[in-house]
Amino acid sequence: MVRLLCQGGLGAAYTAVGLDPLAGDAYKRHTAYAFLKGASARTIVLLGHIDTVDTADFGAQEPWALDPMALSGRLDALVQRAPAAAHDLAAHPDDWLFGRGVIDMKSGVAANIAVMRHLAGLASAGTLPLSVVFLATPDEENESAGVLQAVRFLLRLRDEHGLTYLGAINTDYTTAQYPGDPHHYIYTGTIGKLLPSVLAVGRESHVGDPFDGLDANLLAAELIRDLSMNDALCDVVRGQVAPPPVTLHAADLKSTYDVQRADPLDDAGRPAGAATRGGAVGADTPVATPGRDGGQVAGGGWQGGARGQRFATARRGAHLRRAACRRGEASGCGGGGRCAE
Ligand SMILES: [Zn+2]
Repeated sequence: MVRLLCQGGLGAAYTAVGLDPLAGDAYKRHTAYAFLKGASARTIVLLGHIDTVDTADFGAQEPWALDPMALSGRLDALVQRAPAAAHDLAAHPDDWLFGRGVIDMKSGVAANIAVMRHLAGLASAGTLPLSVVFLATPDEENESAGVLQAVRFLLRLRDEHGLTYLGAINTDYTTAQYPGDPHHYIYTGTIGKLLPSVLAVGRESHVGDPFDGLDANLLAAELIRDLSMNDALCDVVRGQVAPPPVTLHAADLKSTYDVQRADPLDDAGRPAGAATRGGAVGADTPVATPGRDGGQVAGGGWQGGARGQRFATARRGAHLRRAACRRGEASGCGGGGRCAE
């Protein structure tokens, strides 16, 4: 990316250009940056991300997901996966380039590079009126580590060069708001992201004594029910309603089926096993990002729970009958708790 920015002798035009490593990043990822100082300290940021999701969305075309030229030769198959593009593809077959992440958002980053190259020419000629920062960050799709560090980078640049930021232009893609929507949208703001994670720790009990314990799955389920798709938690700004929160992952940390509810606690009061294994259920509940995993594991959790519950009901019936027998109230018995149960 830095090579593309600098190609053709433009490197000297940039006040700064290079790669900013993510601090402490296990994957050793970097943000690519370039800074052009113009006649004014007023500054625009051109923003993009360079990570993509995986290639599963290509379906049967997945073997060619990383080969744009091979994909271009398979237009008929691609049209079946994106019928909305059929008309445009037929009319302008040479205007399209396919491949992993081209929409979200390599095309936007490519546009930003082209703009920066043009502005670098102006900077060389001393005719760039504003200052401009280019940023291409990793990790948009996961924990946003790239842009979080980029904020610190921008603050450092501001302090070093006395910049005033006017705003950022994010060239990520936008979508139709309804089927057949003929409009193209430019947004003057963006939804944010909250990623609360919850660890519900239950209290161990045998399934036959459910009132002696606390079901971590039930705790998590109640929380998920309160949060997931709750339109009372939607942000509304100037008539625009953000998507409601959804659950992206929920899992019972018990590794096997057994008749204990929740995990036993160790001497320190933590769930037994490795510390990282934690309690019975963990749930991540990001805001405003629809996901496809919601409820999946909760369903699996109930599978065991339901079996346990039936067993518990039978056992509890036996307890009650024995107690009634002790009081001499059970039908057809001699009292004294001697019923054969
Ligand atoms: Zn994106």
